[in-house]
Amino acid sequence: MNQRQFDQAHLFHEQPLIEFIHPAAPAQPQRLAPGVRLHPFAPLTIARMRAVDIADAPELRPLLLNWWELNGRHAIPWKLRPDGSRPADGEPLDPYPIWIAEVMLQQTQLQVVLPYWQRWLAAFPTLEALAAANAHHVLLLWQGLGYYSRARRLHQGARQLLEGQRLIAPAAADPWPRTLEGWLALPGIGPSTAGSILSSAFNLPFAILDGNVKRVLARLIASPRPPARELKGFWRLSELLLDPQRPRAFNQALMDLGATLCTPRNPSCGACPWQGHCAAYAAGDPAAYPVKDAPRELPFQVIVVGVVLNDACEVVIDQRLNEGLLGGLWEFPGGKQEPGEAIAATIARELMEELAITVAVGEELITLEHAYSHKKLRFVVHLCRWTGGQPQPLACQQVRWVQPQQLGEFPFPAANARIIAALLERLGLADAPASPGQPGGTAAA
Ligand code: SF4
Repeated sequence: MNQRQFDQAHLFHEQPLIEFIHPAAPAQPQRLAPGVRLHPFAPLTIARMRAVDIADAPELRPLLLNWWELNGRHAIPWKLRPDGSRPADGEPLDPYPIWIAEVMLQQTQLQVVLPYWQRWLAAFPTLEALAAANAHHVLLLWQGLGYYSRARRLHQGARQLLEGQRLIAPAAADPWPRTLEGWLALPGIGPSTAGSILSSAFNLPFAILDGNVKRVLARLIASPRPPARELKGFWRLSELLLDPQRPRAFNQALMDLGATLCTPRNPSCGACPWQGHCAAYAAGDPAAYPVKDAPRELPFQVIVVGVVLNDACEVVIDQRLNEGLLGGLWEFPGGKQEPGEAIAATIARELMEELAITVAVGEELITLEHAYSHKKLRFVVHLCRWTGGQPQPLACQQVRWVQPQQLGEFPFPAANARIIAALLERLGLADAPASPGQPGGTAAA
């Protein structure tokens, strides 16, 4: 447990009173519903949550749940029993598929996640199977889903859970935590993911605050500030609203409301069960919420890439170090263009620095733009002919010469899929099937 998680765990308490300041009345201490636990991020005050009438909370719950019974997304497979039927309110569900799904859903939409989740469960049906898997197989199954550190952390978390059970509670019926701090101790698990797993698997009364929920709550109270600047207050509001008897259903209903009606653009307020209580609707322009900070200009960077072929028509690829956004993935060598540097000079320099090889830089293969949340990149990709030096992993884990048809066996970042397609097309191999499985190729070092 790191310092932050330690602090979170020790701030956690079940204090029943919170203060809530409403504009139409003097500040009144308000009671959480019995059984609802305060989140460790809950603040001492939520003065900005003034637009919603706190007395509405008991009314808002049944409105939302009744709507959800009729209109919710009831076919999400990890929220169902193994036979596909809906669980009873207090009935526990297997946490393993829920944990995998919740981590996949971080930064990613449900429809995108579904096929990945199904493939993952087919390959690693149990916690033990995931813990025993090799890292290459794990990354390959994640390929295309982005934010690859999530896959590495799931893998690491599986081993941590089993090790924790072996060391701490060998007689326990299962290795799954029932506490917030227990989940926060796993890599890649934040408070909303932890709350969602605990409520989904065990029907425990923990609130959530994902993107959908932030949007709904920001509109419900017409928050004058972006949710990211009011996280503590939003946590408090989510906890205040949570139905302590049906936390699994309530959290899912809140997410479904955000995903199906209270959408980012053109919210369907006419069908919304909370319309009569919604401050943004009353203000006449619900889509104006959540309020956003002015967009900032994203930094732009040119990345040059060398697709290096040898006389046997093998191509050199390298595996990134495990740290960072794309850690552990394979890539074609290259790097940032320095100010005033010519493309060919950048490629030659990067390949020498990265792999200690010399090349003759040839024609451009493809140029593509790729935007991350924090930067925009332009990849300028050139074909190169290897002229000397045995590739060395100077700035990576390992280097391999592989046949172009084998590239499908390696997990690459999403932007590289178009580079591979362009290479296969240029070599007249576009119809050659990529052969998934264990990686082949020749280790260069
Ligand atoms: S009334 Fe409209 S803006 Fe308000 S919560 Fe419902 S869908 Fe969202």
